[in-house]
Amino acid sequence: MTAPLVYLDNNATTAVAPEVLEAMLPYLREAYGNPSSMHDFGGRLSKDLDAARGRLAALIGAHPDEIVFTSCGTESDNTALASALETHPTKRHLVTTAVEHPAIISQMNHLKKKGYEVTFVGVRPDGVCEPEAIRAALRPDTAVVSVMWANNETGVLMPIDEIAQVVKEHGALFHTDAVQAVGKEPIDLSRTPVDLLSLSGHKLHAPKGVGALYVRRGTPFRPYILGGHQENGRRGGTYAVPNIVALGAAAELAGRHMAEERARVTLLRDRLEAGLLERVPAVHRLGNPELRLFNTCTVSFEYIEGEAILLMLSEHGICASSGSACSSGSLEPSHVLRAMGLPFELCHASIRFSFSRYNTDADVDRVLEVTPGIIRELRRISPFTPPALLR
Ligand SMILES: *Cc1c(COP(=O)(O)O)cnc(C)c1O
Repeated sequence: MTAPLVYLDNNATTAVAPEVLEAMLPYLREAYGNPSSMHDFGGRLSKDLDAARGRLAALIGAHPDEIVFTSCGTESDNTALASALETHPTKRHLVTTAVEHPAIISQMNHLKKKGYEVTFVGVRPDGVCEPEAIRAALRPDTAVVSVMWANNETGVLMPIDEIAQVVKEHGALFHTDAVQAVGKEPIDLSRTPVDLLSLSGHKLHAPKGVGALYVRRGTPFRPYILGGHQENGRRGGTYAVPNIVALGAAAELAGRHMAEERARVTLLRDRLEAGLLERVPAVHRLGNPELRLFNTCTVSFEYIEGEAILLMLSEHGICASSGSACSSGSLEPSHVLRAMGLPFELCHASIRFSFSRYNTDADVDRVLEVTPGIIRELRRISPFTPPALLR
């Protein structure tokens, strides 16, 4: 008998909500037209796109015409940086943090190769990037500053209001990768002076393959995907109607349930965290305990490899994630944890549990039941474990 699935990897991707699936199915079946068509069969779908755009805008305090649908968070991030540079051709400098998602870091490294200058601002040991550190990095030729709203590995929330203020005083464009924050954190862009914001459907219970870029009214913009006149000329490509409808439905659900979900999931997350700290010796909680997403718990178990823990959890049907990525046989410790200045051993032994509205008390019970045994077993075979820990 296989163990029931305990899915605690919601910062990697989420289940499509049943309501979202229902909402998109008609557009995969009979309503398959192209909203850009002259005939009514296709053309009438444009009102469904408008509705989805309105729902997503409402979730983040935006105007519907500030939403550009894309294929994913990565495309939104790439579009934001490319557009900022193209609209400010004399500015050759960019600012970001050392803890961004690869969707930003890879693009920044590519831009460096093309001759741009990039400043990677560091974070405190608790993972927070200070607004003053951003201010210190700004230059007259800074085109754009990109700072994530919430970190995917640790859940740490950046002081985005203050950072946006600092950047606007300076006059550069401000972009935020809010892929982890949208749907979890209250966001009101009528109050927070962000110019560009990226989000992704599959992190908030819509399917993979749809995202959006928020572009504040008046922000100079150049499309990244060139093609037809879709999205008011801001992004070519035939409208992915089912996905866009799904993202609208997911946004509406997230907004409706945000407060109760926060309350319920925080309790689950905190019970898991307290239980692990109580039952397992030499375990550390990573990241600022207050300034973080309510769904994320990242801990580090001394003397063992995160990957080994993940494989054993997986045998028990438990899905979690580790900070380091196993690439070409060598274990690269997470750039996020290294930027926080954590000792090398802790970078290697981190595990992220990330919750969603579908997790239950039984999920927490299951993890607390099997994890102490897994850690004991792995420490028993690790040459680094001090004998005192094994007694
Ligand atoms: C998942 C993620 C992305 C990438 O989004 P995709 O839709 O998978 O391309 C970007 N940034 C952060 C912070 C993420 O968590």
